[in-house]
Amino acid sequence: MGRATAGQLDRLEIRSCLDLLLHLPYRWQRRTRYEPLANLFAAQECLVLGKVISSRTLPSGRRSWEVRIGDDTGTLTLRFFHYSRFQVRDVSPGDWMRCFGVVRPGPKGLEMIHPEYRAAKDESPPPPDMHDAPVYASTAGLAQNKLCSLVRQVLAKFDRQGWPDIEFDAPLNMFALDALALLHQPPADTADTELARARDRLAVEELTSHLVKSLIERRRLGEAQSIALPRERQLGRRMLRELGFRLTRAQSEALKIILPELEQAHPMLRLLQGDVGSGKTVVAAFAALRAAENGHQAAIMAPTEMLAEQHLQTFRHWLEPLGVRTTLLTGAMTGNERAASLEEITSGQSLVVVGTHALFQKDVQFDSLALVIIDEQHRFGVYQRLALKSKGLQPHQLVMTATPIPRTLAMTMYAHMDHIKLDELPPGRTPVSTRLMGPERRQDLIHRVGETCQADRQAYWVCTRIEESEEEDIRDVQNTADELRGNLDGVRVEALHGRMSAGDKQALMEAFRCGEIRVLVATTVIEVGVDVPNASLMIIENPERLGLAQLHQLRGRVGRGAEASHCLLLHGSEISQSARQRLQALIESSDGFLLAEKDLQLRGEGELTGTRQSGLAPYRVADLRRDTHLLSQAHEAAKSLVDEGFEAAYALQHIWVREVSDVSTV
Ligand code: ADP
Ligand code: MG
Repeated sequence: MGRATAGQLDRLEIRSCLDLLLHLPYRWQRRTRYEPLANLFAAQECLVLGKVISSRTLPSGRRSWEVRIGDDTGTLTLRFFHYSRFQVRDVSPGDWMRCFGVVRPGPKGLEMIHPEYRAAKDESPPPPDMHDAPVYASTAGLAQNKLCSLVRQVLAKFDRQGWPDIEFDAPLNMFALDALALLHQPPADTADTELARARDRLAVEELTSHLVKSLIERRRLGEAQSIALPRERQLGRRMLRELGFRLTRAQSEALKIILPELEQAHPMLRLLQGDVGSGKTVVAAFAALRAAENGHQAAIMAPTEMLAEQHLQTFRHWLEPLGVRTTLLTGAMTGNERAASLEEITSGQSLVVVGTHALFQKDVQFDSLALVIIDEQHRFGVYQRLALKSKGLQPHQLVMTATPIPRTLAMTMYAHMDHIKLDELPPGRTPVSTRLMGPERRQDLIHRVGETCQADRQAYWVCTRIEESEEEDIRDVQNTADELRGNLDGVRVEALHGRMSAGDKQALMEAFRCGEIRVLVATTVIEVGVDVPNASLMIIENPERLGLAQLHQLRGRVGRGAEASHCLLLHGSEISQSARQRLQALIESSDGFLLAEKDLQLRGEGELTGTRQSGLAPYRVADLRRDTHLLSQAHEAAKSLVDEGFEAAYALQHIWVREVSDVSTV
């Protein structure tokens, strides 16, 4: 295979024969029978056969070549705008013409424009195809034909001898293989229901194998040992007194579940779901404190340097008065700074360590790691078991996310975790009012930003691009920051984006937090976690380019104080129907769980890898929108596979559970 093709396949995440086979067609072209011409209707895609009645080129107006064909039942016009004179010369009245295309209404009845065709002068008519043609999701430069022929080669190559790049014999294998062969090369007249059944079979198998993974993980943890963390020194009580606010009912309830679990010598594995702003950090701090008061370590992993830095400040503020030393470790730290942090971690001087995934690189040795907290877990992709152990003991894990996990997904990917929800926000928050506006309102919005600053509050202006682009009409951070500076006298406006160094970002964030900077023009880097309660206005430019979950996260940056907050969605000059629906959903609801379900529903049929790209689910075949009914079947299969023994269960995973590397090797 050429390098270009390999590159194109890579873009489709196809890196092995197996990947190729699991890249299923999303529809099929019906090519195994001829549609009688009298039966055609507009928008129908079909194969037709007729004899040429007339063929002529029309020079007047738009140059075109027009062919009329007829069969026993009726006639059809074929129209070409791009053609060569050789093509025209090859077709004469009386020839057979076999065409595949979409039927449309024309000036003189139905037509096909630019059908794929074959002309023949033989006595007997050419036959239809043996197979319906699969249609695959593809990428620029990679033709359907090419994909089809690659799949055909792979299917032929191992000819039911086994999977080409995997050697083992899993019980469900042959079924899967039959199903794959059927879907890629359906024999003539395969019924739609049969195709659907084959796909369902694969989906069940895929869901099953993910469930198996969860079940194995659960058993493994059930047998593992961890450090028991009993209540020791009443530090929790002291921290509670100093917080400056009372815990919400939901926070207290979560802690009543988490803290006793930490007292066990079995590892806890808890997923804490709480909408943006529900106050997950303080829950994490109480858990970390519990480890610290026992003289053991807690590690908190955040998805970005910025968020790690912010957590460091927060944890220090809460924990250091109690004598608990808190350290930072991120990938951006080098040299002496890094060495000093490592020393504190290894010696056990620091009991609480905040960082990015750099925390779990091989050279980081904890003295006595008892608890791992993963914040904004969805940002790390699908949940991964951490390859870290503390002196042979498995640390407790608290996994936190603000991206609500749709129920169906929670039942498969996250089935091995116990879940708790923070289902209320701290008191005194007024919901963020959200409105959609067109580009003509831009100047008003700039004015609005000015007013917010005058009222001593702060604003975010979010753009989806860092720099100006020639092709697209999308606002960028740099120009927008300049524009705001030009319009807002005496207001400090700064730009923040992901290409800046970690240090610069931190400095800007800090200046914004303490109010020196009044307006922060930023890319979506500020999406996760950033907490500045005095910011009460957010403008999101080109919101049509963002997904619903992301918009909800962004909006969660405001409405964190007692002030009424506003989120204004400033859309570009063109906005699609589906984007409008998405934005409407955001306007109508502030419930992250509801929005997550909606997000799943609104994803278009064509977006096959939609859930995969969103990082929510790694499924290749299963589709959470339509496969809910397959879940109970998958649950039963998974249970019996695991009961039968791990070998069969593991074998299945080789196919479906893509080896995602451990966070430790990221
Ligand atoms: P998230 O769940 O999105 O991570 P945070 O933990 O950042 O939310 O909390 C958001 C804000 O709410 C912070 O400023 C935090 O100090 C504050 N907060 C958390 N819990 C409470 C509470 N019980 N009462 C008042 N404010 C709270
Ligand atoms: Mg948070």
